[in-house]
Amino acid sequence: MSKRDYYDVLGVSRNADQAEIKSAYRKLAIKYHPDKNPNNTEAEDKFKEAAEAYEILSNPEKRQRYDRFGHSGGGAGGFGGGGMNMEDIFSQFGDIFGGGGSPFESFFGGGGQRGGRRVTKGSNLRIKVKLTLQEIAKGSEKKIKVNKQVVCTTCDGSGAKDKSSFHNCRTCGGTGTVRRVTNTILGQMQTTSTCPTCNGEGVEISAKCPVCHGDGLVRGEETISINIPAGVSEGMQLSMSGKGNAAPRGGVPGDLIILIEEIPHETLKRDGTNVIYDLYINFVDATLGTSAEIPTIDGKAKIKIEPGTQGGKILRLKGKGVPEVNSYHKGDQLVYVNVWTPKAISSEEKELLERLRTSPNFKPQPGKNEKTFFERIKEYFE
Ligand SMILES: [Zn+2]
Ligand SMILES: [Zn+2]
Repeated sequence: MSKRDYYDVLGVSRNADQAEIKSAYRKLAIKYHPDKNPNNTEAEDKFKEAAEAYEILSNPEKRQRYDRFGHSGGGAGGFGGGGMNMEDIFSQFGDIFGGGGSPFESFFGGGGQRGGRRVTKGSNLRIKVKLTLQEIAKGSEKKIKVNKQVVCTTCDGSGAKDKSSFHNCRTCGGTGTVRRVTNTILGQMQTTSTCPTCNGEGVEISAKCPVCHGDGLVRGEETISINIPAGVSEGMQLSMSGKGNAAPRGGVPGDLIILIEEIPHETLKRDGTNVIYDLYINFVDATLGTSAEIPTIDGKAKIKIEPGTQGGKILRLKGKGVPEVNSYHKGDQLVYVNVWTPKAISSEEKELLERLRTSPNFKPQPGKNEKTFFERIKEYFE
């Protein structure tokens, strides 16, 4: 594999100045950082390639040799010998991000007080997603148009009018930190803190981009495809890292927080992983038996009502409920059988019923027809 040109790797012109090279490398280092791309060898290669390019182009002497002799200019083994190892790369970060170590520590680690050049992080964006019971049971992919802050394309997020209006911060000299000496009872103490002029970014803009007015960000729209796993519930929050508001000047975008809302089903009620349906039958059907069409998550289903069914009986449709998130367990649909008693009847109906009133079979005999405790348990779990 032939080596790519170092300027191409960093995406800068051959007469780019140090600030541009630094800024370009910072962007790539953040994009391909192994913390953000676990088990991604392609990202790791890009990360190493960028580090090597920066190693050469950030050093005036090495850069001059590279400009004259190309990749073979580095002496015996050429530039970058056997490639840089990760430790070398991370030691570079002291220069790039200040403080050494991972550029992400300062804001992911919660410290933030170490000072030094700070990578800005975009703010989190919150959206609500409404789901039907079907979508919750099956899982769904939602394409949602979100209004958010995106990187200004006019200035490529730098906030500067052009390249010449982009300088090292004069307060901190581009380091992002300022030192202060204070007198205490223990003597003089030197403290470092984030530069107040540039907010730790190390750069200052003399002329602002006319489109974003120096923010590096503009309002924009993005259609985001969100995979919602089956089994989520009202109030649950999902988060997609890096899909929130963009950050200016090569920072990392914030997260997209998705708040789940359930749209109630017309007839089915959710109870955890189970789904409940209230079925009403009249006492004739309860006595003689019948079949009933009921709604389920998958559409209509026919169920059989045995002759002599008592009100309050629960029928269970196994596996017709909602799955648990990230699990193979799935709930059931429970059908509560309610026996409907009519309130208004005609004189003809009344006559019919009067004839049945004293019939011995209509006398409640709960002990006789009731199933044993064991049988009822068995029926419940069928
Ligand atoms: Zn500064
Ligand atoms: Zn701009």
